[in-house]
Amino acid sequence: MSPTKPTVLVTGGAGYIGSHAVLALQQAGYGVIVLDNLVYGHRELVEDVLKVELVVGDTNDRALLDQLFASREIAAVMHFAAYAYVGESVTDPAKYYENNVVGTLRLLEAMVAANIKKFVFSSTCATYGVPKTVPIPEDHPQDPINPYGATKLMVERILADFDVAYGLKSVCFRYFNAAGADSEGRLGEDHQPETHLIPLVLLTALGKRDSISVFGTDYPTEDGTCIRDYIHVTDLASAHVLGLDYLMQDNPSEKFNLGNGSGFSVKQIIDAAREVTGREIKVVECDRRAGDPPALIGSSGKAKEILGWKPQHADIHQIIRDAWNWHQRRHLV
Ligand code: UDP
Repeated sequence: MSPTKPTVLVTGGAGYIGSHAVLALQQAGYGVIVLDNLVYGHRELVEDVLKVELVVGDTNDRALLDQLFASREIAAVMHFAAYAYVGESVTDPAKYYENNVVGTLRLLEAMVAANIKKFVFSSTCATYGVPKTVPIPEDHPQDPINPYGATKLMVERILADFDVAYGLKSVCFRYFNAAGADSEGRLGEDHQPETHLIPLVLLTALGKRDSISVFGTDYPTEDGTCIRDYIHVTDLASAHVLGLDYLMQDNPSEKFNLGNGSGFSVKQIIDAAREVTGREIKVVECDRRAGDPPALIGSSGKAKEILGWKPQHADIHQIIRDAWNWHQRRHLV
């Protein structure tokens, strides 16, 4: 299907959330070019599944960006390329500031030089730190407790300043816990190493791991385990298309939470995964993981009101079922 709408550069389009966004952009009629350094991304997702042009490179390669922007009609940039391991950001913050902040700054400078002034940014609820109120609204104070969250907050601040100075308009999406997979099984989550709860639980159900570690059972929650707001990756992707549409209509810069507004504890997720998979999932109770707030739940009313966003896959069993289908398929081949 040839695009009927302008072309968007998607950085990190070979990654988990970025690849789902590319699919949603194609379905909405946008042209797409992916820029990815393939450190964590998967070439075959872009070339074989999505069948989109892939430019292999870094966002801080100014010469590459200048050449790309000069040779193509690119109307906007959707920016997913970032390192996103919270633990690693604590032990190797330089890597995170260099890639997530400096790399993004280089990209934004190249955009301004090329007069491309629409930017959709993949931010995070980690910019809020330990919440004072739950569900968390967008105007909640931002006080990140790890370098990963700090890098995303710095970019949000750079974007506010670039708007004033250069008229670069942006939509920042602060995600809660991305989960699930394309329900047709084309795309899914494949992190190396994997640290996220739902894929690790499913790998345990598949027998690829002996057990799932529950990090902390003494939190001030009903069953003592952490509560998170899990949002289907396809619903995240659809919000990005709406965010881009919004910018294409020359609206002002905005920031939106993306979550389902309901929380599930680690134990509830494991129980739901037992129901979905029908498998035994052995649990080992462990100490708390550093830097984990007890409960993170997002208030996403603003995205619904301003963008008309309607999550279609909010049911936690469906989120886990789509992820399960993807993991089963991957481990069969
Ligand atoms: N978690 C866990 N065991 C694991 C991985 C994660 O108990 O092996 C917990 C983690 O402490 C957090 C929740 O599951 O409370 C979600 O963690 P994840 O890493 O998936 O996302 P995060 O909330 O850190 O972005």
